[in-house]
Amino acid sequence: MRRPLVAGNWKMNGDSQSTVSLVNGIVDGRGDVTRAEVLICPPYILIPRAADALNGRDDIALGAQDLDINQNGAFTGQISASMLVDAGCTYVIVGHSERRAIYGESDQDVAEKFRVAQEGGLIPVLCVGETLEERESGDTENVVARQVQAVIDVVGIENFDNSVIAYEPVWAIGTGKTATPEMAQEVHKFIRDMLSALNKDIADQLRILYGGSMNAGNAESLIGMTDIDGGLIGGASLQPDSFLAICTAAN
Ligand code: PEP
Repeated sequence: MRRPLVAGNWKMNGDSQSTVSLVNGIVDGRGDVTRAEVLICPPYILIPRAADALNGRDDIALGAQDLDINQNGAFTGQISASMLVDAGCTYVIVGHSERRAIYGESDQDVAEKFRVAQEGGLIPVLCVGETLEERESGDTENVVARQVQAVIDVVGIENFDNSVIAYEPVWAIGTGKTATPEMAQEVHKFIRDMLSALNKDIADQLRILYGGSMNAGNAESLIGMTDIDGGLIGGASLQPDSFLAICTAAN
């Protein structure tokens, strides 16, 4: 039985004050959400602030939105896996479509980040997904397979046992357009089948999240699908009420 995971990707939003009030709101409202695992991924600089607000609670996990492939040294502006662990993170997002599109990260870059994250003791949340153009030209499965295969080539299928995949159709991110539960399920099943052909046990236990305009209104029908094990949430993770409604739907 896979434990659902709901992860909030705050992106480049917030400040000290809003971080404390968002964390407090999630903590206070969490109530019966005990089955679903809850993860928040603030901007780097706000991670220590979120950790302080959590005040030792370990039922809400902390993650980062990216990391560098190097451990330390002359890499101005970058943050390493060990720094994230030191700040209290257990997860890190790798290969978000904004990193791929805006910062030019290749499948190989993302695969290296996945490897370095795991070697550094973090659980990578690997984002994959097609653009609208790719979907319309019937390339969804090819794109997703290529993105997943690049990571398998670097770390091997065995290392997917301690990771999460997030299927995030690029056309659904921040647009208010959501894949229907059936569309999302089809791609989630495709990913699981691809991994299952290599190692069924790992594929069966791997959590595959959906991301792309998930909100309080559509979360239940999406997470209700067989191969959808939770969500990676952008916009709706910035308010306690909408984020908690998704956590409740996943629970
Ligand atoms: C995301 O950026 O990972 C995301 C899913 O964003 P949104 O929920 O805002 O579409």
